[in-house]
Amino acid sequence: MPEHNHALARRCPHCDGFPAVAVTTGQRTPAGYRETITATCPACHGTGSLPLAKRVKAGATC
Ligand SMILES: [Zn+2]
Repeated sequence: MPEHNHALARRCPHCDGFPAVAVTTGQRTPAGYRETITATCPACHGTGSLPLAKRVKAGATC
């Protein structure tokens, strides 16, 4: 059955709730693992939800 209740937190529309991702650099660490860097969403700064100021501006009540 479909879930009709929405999540309480508003997801960031820029990253859709995936605020931080690991990007491989193509290099290997000395131990042989892939070297990665973490990139965070520039819109929500890695929080995954809309900033409070933007939520108020959009007319949300919570
Ligand atoms: Zn975001």
